[in-house]
Amino acid sequence: MNAAVTTTKGGAEERLPATRVLVVEDEEAFVDALTVGLSREGFEVEIARDGGEALRRFDELRPDLVLLDVMLPTVSGIDVCRELRQHSQVPIIMVTAKAAEIDTVVGLEVGADDYVAKPYRMRELVARMRAVLRRQAGRNEVVEEQLAGNLLIEGAVELDIARHEVRVHGQQVDLPLKEFEVLALLMENAGRVLQRSTLIDRVWGHDYVGDTKTLDVHIKRLRAKVEDDPSSPSRITTIRGLGYKFNAA
Ligand code: CA
Repeated sequence: MNAAVTTTKGGAEERLPATRVLVVEDEEAFVDALTVGLSREGFEVEIARDGGEALRRFDELRPDLVLLDVMLPTVSGIDVCRELRQHSQVPIIMVTAKAAEIDTVVGLEVGADDYVAKPYRMRELVARMRAVLRRQAGRNEVVEEQLAGNLLIEGAVELDIARHEVRVHGQQVDLPLKEFEVLALLMENAGRVLQRSTLIDRVWGHDYVGDTKTLDVHIKRLRAKVEDDPSSPSRITTIRGLGYKFNAA
């Protein structure tokens, strides 16, 4: 999100970041219509009139979304999309002159987030833009949680420390507190062996009474919930004589 616009919320003037859109389009009629239509929807509009200009100015403009015509002078929209994807995850919506072109673009797997065919209605375009921006925001939230250490992801297993949730292949699984703590400790140290004594000490501390099987029972229950095949565990492996390891994805 880039520059600021003034908006009204609860009667008070507030500065909110405007979403900057880079429109890459060579037809003046579309440039004009998009500039007016998207500005009206609250977007900040930047225009590049050919593929080369789009690539040259991308880093300077840092758009939040790119609306990219397929048929462009100098560098085609397909090549622009491929080039941007080398170093950016910016949401890209490809605009084709006919619906048939969409199949070609999709088939080429250029890395665009969505596609619209001309002629399109402004309302449909804006809805698609908002949808890809929402998806991007969701991805950013996940990345932020990961960076904050609140979300551990190893392959199909996601552990959300703050929310106390575990998902395997996207499905939530319920874990009692101690099982959750064992799994969190293993995943925080994914790829490294954790000694039995370390796990016991960190999870049970002084509460741990005698029975050395307690840890193994918890591991067994965990495997039943997070392994694809609990009888042949691939995620939580036993390192004989030492302890357990969560295999890094
Ligand atoms: Ca064109």
